[in-house]
Amino acid sequence: MAGRTQLFIRIGRIVGIGQPGWYGGNRWSFGTVANAYMLVRDGRICRIGTMDTLMQSLLVEADEIIDLGGRWVLPGFCDAHTHLLFPATREEEWLMRLRGYTYQEIARRGGGILASAQRFAESSDEALIEGVLARLDHLVRMGTTAVEIKTGYGLTVDQEIRAVRLLARVREQTRLTVRITVQALHALPVEYRDARQRYIRAVCEELLPAVRDYVDFCDVFCEEGFFTPEESLEVLERAVQLGMRVKVHAHQFGRTGGIEVARAVQAVSVDHLEHLDEEDLVVLRSWRTMPVVLPGSSFFLRKPFSPARRLLDSGLPVALASDWNPGTAPSGNLYFIWHLACAYMGMTPEEAFTGLTVHGAVAMDIEGGALYEGGVATFQVVEPVQSLAVYPYEFGHIPVRQVYIGGERVV
Ligand SMILES: [Zn+2]
Repeated sequence: MAGRTQLFIRIGRIVGIGQPGWYGGNRWSFGTVANAYMLVRDGRICRIGTMDTLMQSLLVEADEIIDLGGRWVLPGFCDAHTHLLFPATREEEWLMRLRGYTYQEIARRGGGILASAQRFAESSDEALIEGVLARLDHLVRMGTTAVEIKTGYGLTVDQEIRAVRLLARVREQTRLTVRITVQALHALPVEYRDARQRYIRAVCEELLPAVRDYVDFCDVFCEEGFFTPEESLEVLERAVQLGMRVKVHAHQFGRTGGIEVARAVQAVSVDHLEHLDEEDLVVLRSWRTMPVVLPGSSFFLRKPFSPARRLLDSGLPVALASDWNPGTAPSGNLYFIWHLACAYMGMTPEEAFTGLTVHGAVAMDIEGGALYEGGVATFQVVEPVQSLAVYPYEFGHIPVRQVYIGGERVV
């Protein structure tokens, strides 16, 4: 037998077996196998079967036998939307909000994205990289094996280029799959308050050309009080012209035209979507995109959740992500997101599982999120349960015991 082989035996249940892809209505009919074994060769799954069919020869020939003692195996989660390159937590702002301060008041008192940007500029490269690596370590212990990270706390051209370089270094230092997105429009820097068009031009002519070879996607924050559809479109069209693929933050605080912008540039994903009407659903169905919903920020801000049920019922797929960022979603716990999706957005445990796995992978355009023969051996070993629904039901609990990425144990 060529290559290094690992034989995982006595798996209570393998869940999430099947081909990754884009499934309308999240109707991914993934397979499960109880009392299973899984053979891995050179980091790829080469056979899945039941223990009673396990051939003695495999036990003899395997380089390593790993007895999982009845634990379950799920694909690693794919978190397609985070802002986890940030300099510091912002709990003082959260406390202000709990005392009734508005977003505008908090911004006036030096909070918000601009506060993070100032601290970002003052932080050393090492401190910022250490922060991201610590968060990635946190994520993988919660079952996440792939993550999209946006820049955006740089704000100025120079600092955003720096942010992209830092993420490129992070990618070399972690076993997790990392997708880098330049958040080309996030908030208007103070010094451009009276020169919006000059800022847009700097992003198009200086920032985007400088980072095009280092990033996987370009994203914009198209929201009232941030950037208009026209400004967003100008930046995204430039990104497309430079050969980049794009994502859009749309309809978080209102119906502000972000979905039309996303269609115009055929965005890979449209993210947030807390505010939707029937027309928006029609537009979203007009090209093959992945809606990404972020219930963590709705929960944290005590704002309306995205109507994921309506998206699914209209035939669209839905991916779930953490939105981990210091201002509106300070957590990367996708088990909790799984709970929120079921409890507040009307998704079934299976639909939400699809959103956390194969659909997260589609939103990042990566391999992963499913277990199948020939696919990468990236998975989490979790405590056994009565049924899949127990994982979202026991909110706050992390059942992860081991994590393998490409056949290598990382947790
Ligand atoms: Zn975001």
